[in-house]
Amino acid sequence: MLPLPLDAGTYDYRLPPGLVAAPGSFVAVPLGGREVLGVVWDGEPDASLPASRLKDIQAVLDAPPMGESLRRFVEWVAAYTLSPPGAVLRMAMSAPAALDRPAQRAGWQLAPGAIREELKLTPARARVLDALDIGEVRSATDLAAEAGVSPGVVRGLADAGLLVPALLPAGSHRFPRPDPDHPGPTLAPDQAQAAEALRARVAARAFGVTLLTGVTGSGKTEVYLDAVAECLRQGRQALVLLPEIALSAQWLERFRRRFGVDPALWHSELTSRTRRDTWRAVAEGAAPVLVGARSALFLPYPDLGLVIVDEEHETAFKQEEGVVYHARDMAVVRARLANAACILVSATPSLETLTNAEQGRYDHLHLSERHGSAGMPAVEAIDLRRHPPERGRFLSPPLIEAVQETLARGEQAMLFLNRRGYAPLTLCRACGHRMRCPNCTAWLVEHRAQRRLQCHHCGHAEPIPPTCPECNAPGTLTPVGPGVERVVEEATALFPDARRIVMASDTIPGPAAAAAAAEAIAARQVDLIVGTQIVAKGWHFPHLTLVGVVDADLGLAGGDLRAAERTLQLLHQVSGRAGRAEAPGRVLLQSFAPDHPVMHALVSGDVAAFMAEEAAGRRPGHWPPFGRLAALIVSSEDEREADRAARDLGLAAPRGPGVEVLGPAPAPLALLRGRHRRRLLLKARRDVGVQPLLRDWLDRVKLPNSVRVQVDVDPVGFL
Ligand code: ADP
Ligand code: ZN
Repeated sequence: MLPLPLDAGTYDYRLPPGLVAAPGSFVAVPLGGREVLGVVWDGEPDASLPASRLKDIQAVLDAPPMGESLRRFVEWVAAYTLSPPGAVLRMAMSAPAALDRPAQRAGWQLAPGAIREELKLTPARARVLDALDIGEVRSATDLAAEAGVSPGVVRGLADAGLLVPALLPAGSHRFPRPDPDHPGPTLAPDQAQAAEALRARVAARAFGVTLLTGVTGSGKTEVYLDAVAECLRQGRQALVLLPEIALSAQWLERFRRRFGVDPALWHSELTSRTRRDTWRAVAEGAAPVLVGARSALFLPYPDLGLVIVDEEHETAFKQEEGVVYHARDMAVVRARLANAACILVSATPSLETLTNAEQGRYDHLHLSERHGSAGMPAVEAIDLRRHPPERGRFLSPPLIEAVQETLARGEQAMLFLNRRGYAPLTLCRACGHRMRCPNCTAWLVEHRAQRRLQCHHCGHAEPIPPTCPECNAPGTLTPVGPGVERVVEEATALFPDARRIVMASDTIPGPAAAAAAAEAIAARQVDLIVGTQIVAKGWHFPHLTLVGVVDADLGLAGGDLRAAERTLQLLHQVSGRAGRAEAPGRVLLQSFAPDHPVMHALVSGDVAAFMAEEAAGRRPGHWPPFGRLAALIVSSEDEREADRAARDLGLAAPRGPGVEVLGPAPAPLALLRGRHRRRLLLKARRDVGVQPLLRDWLDRVKLPNSVRVQVDVDPVGFL
């Protein structure tokens, strides 16, 4: 199989005499005059192919073969998502440099025959020699670090003939082994009980899924780290998926405290060298714990024993480009194929996962109280119809007062608005013209700091024009609505003495900035935090007692099936930042719809009742998770072509009991990056297998090459 998005799954080559390969071996083969890397797959060769047409495998690479469970996973994901297997394989071969045998590095070992007792050694030199077993080879830096000496001491020992040069074992970068018995916190009784159940699951060395729920701050992380410890004791590898690895500085700090060392990391911002080293170390079993983004599912673990998905409800786990897959769902599959335990973790699990737990497919463990003395924050809704902000402002009097009181007590406050930039819409006061993206069906968002208008879909940016491009009136362009920058501006005027920090993707571009921000907040160098959904992540800020949600209704608009569920999850998570230590927390939700079920659930804290209502709403119409959905997104640069293709697909739509096709209809983002988009939605009962229907449907319709059809099985976004 070649890591290329070609429809044919596998290709036949001859293994010439002298080369040894087996299923899983990485090989170099000729393809159309090029050399490409691929994996020897299992299965029958194509018997009709004359031997004379077979080309030779050129080389077998010196890398651990791809294991059976990863090969089955590649096939499974391809079949489920209707992707070419090679496109999935490419995700499993994302660090081709790791397939070359790593260059051997030089190190030092004890000189044979040197008898310790007869030597007069300085304590520093003695520590270096103590760090080496007989025959062991270690690098100079490694030795110096362990002995706590300068590299000069190692060199001195070499000059004295007590160390001799030798090659380090073939190899790879090795990640330090986390110590499962490194003392962790003493768990509270309910935590200990949950941890024990998880440890038993891991020790069983068999597949099973456990849902771990609990209010924010109840210690879910501490509990599942115990499962990681058990996995280490079992000698198997553990994988932890986090929705936004770049924001996980505090999580990594916790890991370090629990296990004494750092885990291996996997995400898109690694340098190519770290990627290579990490991939190789995983393949060689030299990375005992891996923490990563969704792509970490495709790493070549030889013996995966545990897969954890933290914040399992997060939509960040859905990959929307290329191979469209949901990492939470695929994590369950990966665990099953590897005979591993799987733990899904959330304070507000998705209805999909809750339903699986209710129907007995998953075990369910729940932590009902916050750890320590912290109680849950008091949540109140502020009715914006009764307490409107001043004209052109966005903070209501009760929220302003609460921030003032909080700051006066010397505690921290947070203002949350899930919208980047200064204003989501720029409008001409004279003619009503709205500034929109030339490539997308989207308004341009003003980013005042950069003095630009930006499209959040395609990245298009332009300076703010001095006159209206439509009517040429000067100075009439007006920002409409708030973005986080505008809230900052308002807060600066209201609370001039408060030390502020803005946490949005423009101000927190990467892991280092996130870590620095978290440290500054924890060290009380900040009074007021203003941010987008970045602030909702699992942060633990002990001095933060007030969370103000500027627009709690924001996610509710639009016809998305999960709009209410998702809004609840996000607001619950951001609320959970308040009052995590001794001082009680308070959450204020500014809303025009304080009677909406989402606001009720947040105020009462009864998320379970809300989810039961959600389920009751979706069950009769066979909406997920009580039925299946798959979307086809048809796109073309030519609008008429997109329409024609969508209509042809509509005419060929599958029919049958329990199957319904909605559309074609223009996508809400009818134009995206210059492509015109139409959507069709296949809706089926749960017992209908949608993949064969989709495959058959797509086979029946011949489409021009310029038309692209993206298949999205189990869509979470409907744009
Ligand atoms: P969750 O993941 O449920 O939000 P965490 O695991 O992050 O909760 O725990 C919240 C805070 O309480 C963290 O700072 C954590 O270190 C602390 N904590 C939880 N359980 C314990 C415990 N048993 N002993 C000491 N600290 C704990
Ligand atoms: Zn755009």
